[in-house]
Amino acid sequence: MPLWQCLIQRSKWVIAVVLQACGFLAWLRRWRARRGEIPVLALHRVGGSPESRQPQAIPPQVLRQMIQALSQRYTICSWETCVRVARSRDPHPHIAITFDDGYLDNAEWAWPILREAGATGIFCVTTRFVDGVEPHWWDVIAAAYRPTQGPRFRLNRFGQATYGAIAEGKIHRLKTLPSEQLRQNVASLQVAAARDLTIERLPVAMSWAEARRMVEEGADFGGHGLTHAILTNCNDDELASELKDCRETLCRELGREITIFAYPNGDYDDRVVARTRHAGFRYAFSIERGYYTAAGDPLKIPRIMVSEPLYSLNGCNFSWPLFEAEVLGVFEVLLWRRLRRRA
Ligand SMILES: [Zn+2]
Repeated sequence: MPLWQCLIQRSKWVIAVVLQACGFLAWLRRWRARRGEIPVLALHRVGGSPESRQPQAIPPQVLRQMIQALSQRYTICSWETCVRVARSRDPHPHIAITFDDGYLDNAEWAWPILREAGATGIFCVTTRFVDGVEPHWWDVIAAAYRPTQGPRFRLNRFGQATYGAIAEGKIHRLKTLPSEQLRQNVASLQVAAARDLTIERLPVAMSWAEARRMVEEGADFGGHGLTHAILTNCNDDELASELKDCRETLCRELGREITIFAYPNGDYDDRVVARTRHAGFRYAFSIERGYYTAAGDPLKIPRIMVSEPLYSLNGCNFSWPLFEAEVLGVFEVLLWRRLRRRA
């Protein structure tokens, strides 16, 4: 981690420890609950270790510490409960935890850790990915453009694990292309990579059998697109299919009404929101920062993205005061809002 990032993290940690010691964080937690503001955390994968981190993944031991610390101060609840307590402004703090994409590690690690703590989670899955029908497109890119030398994953200037500059650049560019072009790019790359045998075994998805077991055990499920296309880049037919087919598959496979959706990459516009409603989803998560409230638009629910700098001082150890100060938006209030007002 670069020096400036270390200094920022350390300053935040000192502020968080002081605010915790004087009881401010506990007060702020209850204050947000009384205002009906529910934090919704957004996680993706569980894997790696504090020493060798993977992109978008939280190491299992760190997740366990995080969930245990959260469950001592919050009720980690189902989406139905979140909606109810936000409406009633229950003074007891509640929090929701979402996992996007549908990787197998959600079933193998995240769900058992949540259950151990008597908690539940919301799993938003890309339906074509489940059962390994097709890989997530960025996994194909990451495998094809993996660094030829040195470690497979690299840290960026914010201390976050990445697939390396070339793969990340390509993924970033593909996210801006019309959906059909993205598909063609990935398909041709997949053929070339398979021929050269440069493609490695891609990450594994959860199965419908696992998803059904989790539902029986109390997990919530939601949609995350049919192919994880960027919805704002889809034409009307593609958009309808990404939403409608995703929801129909989920309802059929899980044997229940599915009303929750998470926009792939957090991207939406007015057309996407209208089509999401039309497809039968009642709630949709973005990745804009904020809290769920009963008064907010249920199809533009903000979340708090959980990545290394949010919970760790040095990328290795979990720090509860730092994490809670971030979840409660202490640094946003202190700095960001002021800067935004000036901008
Ligand atoms: Zn996703």
